[in-house]
Amino acid sequence: MTMQYRKLGSTGLRVSLFSYGSWLTFGSQQAIEQSIECMGAAYEAGVNFFDNAEVYARGAAETVMGQAIAQFGWPRHSYLVSSKYYWGIHGEGAINAHNTLNRKYLIEAVDGSLERLGLDHLDLVYCHRPDPETPIEETVWAMSDIIASGKALYWGTSEWPADDIRAAWEIAERHHLRKPVVEQPEYNLFRRRRVERSYRRLYGDIGLGLTTWSPLASGLLTGKYLHGVPEGSRADSVGWLRERLTDPEANARVRRFMAVADEVGCTAAQLALAWTASNPNVSTVLTGASRVEQVFENLEALDVMAELTPERREAIEAIFPIE
Ligand code: NDP
Repeated sequence: MTMQYRKLGSTGLRVSLFSYGSWLTFGSQQAIEQSIECMGAAYEAGVNFFDNAEVYARGAAETVMGQAIAQFGWPRHSYLVSSKYYWGIHGEGAINAHNTLNRKYLIEAVDGSLERLGLDHLDLVYCHRPDPETPIEETVWAMSDIIASGKALYWGTSEWPADDIRAAWEIAERHHLRKPVVEQPEYNLFRRRRVERSYRRLYGDIGLGLTTWSPLASGLLTGKYLHGVPEGSRADSVGWLRERLTDPEANARVRRFMAVADEVGCTAAQLALAWTASNPNVSTVLTGASRVEQVFENLEALDVMAELTPERREAIEAIFPIE
């Protein structure tokens, strides 16, 4: 297994094809030692991008990641760290720091992340959701100023509609500001439309890069929910995901998908990851893992990519048509 690196859209930055994120694991589902072990295993295998967000475990995921970075002492040039902003961490009562992309919130929030992570700068910062209450122009100026201040190097969006991404890019172009270079959408066999349809023109037109999330649909695509909810799994600990992950129709499709994985001679997780990574518009696939064994199993997907023949791809995509 040899890690591959892709350009982040049209930037000069290279990201590992598989990266590692901290949602629902760091600072919440797993012990600190487990998080640090998974991060170390990923780095040793060539992963150079670690994704985070202010809201993950209300800042605790950043604190744990900062602890891991301090413990490993990796040279700063060898890894990328991101964070994302929108929900805030001060609760619903925080009038200017909750569900917003206003200038005050964004600029102060980045300072909080840097402190928790123990870093001088973030590599990527994202607007975690669109905010219809704040003019896009205000957000673009704020993100551009954050980049100009040196506190972050690149910025982008997450789950923004294509028109809003284009509007942000055009505002930045018009005012000679730092442009958004990346979008972070969900992308897996169950969720194909945005990446394969809605954003289609943006890759060529503005050189948009993608750091895609939930490649295993939170574990559903591994087949682990075919017979109910395994103890200690994500559906076991995150109540609101339970219904989606145990949905009989979805699991019937996963069963058919597992037959293709059997034929290839890999696990369903590896095949699902390889399929996601094989989309050339994807700069990096953000993986999640609650145990180090999952990190190892998932990164073997790099070797499975060569097995994705056009026939097999067709068979897989017939099970999961774009909805
Ligand atoms: P996945 O869909 O890959 O789900 C990861 C989870 O699936 C693991 O925590 C684990 O859960 C289970 N799993 C992983 N590998 C295996 C395996 N080989 N066998 C069995 N179970 C496995 O990714 P995530 O949903 O975690 O998303 C990845 C990252 O994307 C996040 O960490 C975050 O950084 C980012 N993200 C961004 C969002 C955004 O809005 N921008 C939203 C969500 C995520 P368990 O063992 O507990 O069952």
